[in-house]
Amino acid sequence: MEEVFGLIDCNNFYVSCERVFRPDVEGKPVIVLSNNDGNAVSRSNEAKLLGVRMGDPAFKIRDLIKRENITLFSSNYGLYGDLSNRVTQVLGSMVPTVETYSIDESFLNLGEFAGREVEALARELRERVLRWVGIPTCVGIAPTKTLAKVANFIAKKRPQYRGVCDLRSSQVRAELLPTVPVEEVWGIGGASAAKLVKLGIQTAADLAALEPDDARALMTVTGGRTVYELRGISCLPLELM
Ligand SMILES: [Mg+2]
Repeated sequence: MEEVFGLIDCNNFYVSCERVFRPDVEGKPVIVLSNNDGNAVSRSNEAKLLGVRMGDPAFKIRDLIKRENITLFSSNYGLYGDLSNRVTQVLGSMVPTVETYSIDESFLNLGEFAGREVEALARELRERVLRWVGIPTCVGIAPTKTLAKVANFIAKKRPQYRGVCDLRSSQVRAELLPTVPVEEVWGIGGASAAKLVKLGIQTAADLAALEPDDARALMTVTGGRTVYELRGISCLPLELM
């Protein structure tokens, strides 16, 4: 059976959770602040466009908040956990094999749907999560987990994909991987990215073209695996409890 991974990720999750109960701040700049209201831990797209960065201390952007009329929320992890469970339940209603990866991300085994068009299924999944829980998501589809993460990144950043990017075709990968910065690849931390860029490896396509042995020398065994995964060879199975 062909391996097909899906990665469904909630958009700006904490902000989206707050908006479920405050539809009046839909389309407006919103920030969720960390415990004791210290730093920005989630930003709506509108807040991102105003230049609010992840981790910005609230006191540093006080003027911007006032001028742009940004709505602030204190984080409410009980609420986020509850909505996360509801999202997982909806996913389980359509996909039998789900790996909950973090509070707002799950890997899906979409290889079990040979009889169904996988992209249509992904769109239906998004719609269900939005309708039943109220949370917007994006879905990446690919033959490996690392590529599914890349696909999700593309779906999230580029509106023309309408929330779903499918990287199963090697032709599509050849077209899109050169457009993805290497630091956006799953597992490539800041230090590795800096090393790679110095060597002229700037994009996901450059990294996929690297010799796996060289990648291992640069970034241990994980780096070698990442290269294979970017080439469409699956090394990381779903981790099920
Ligand atoms: Mg997210």
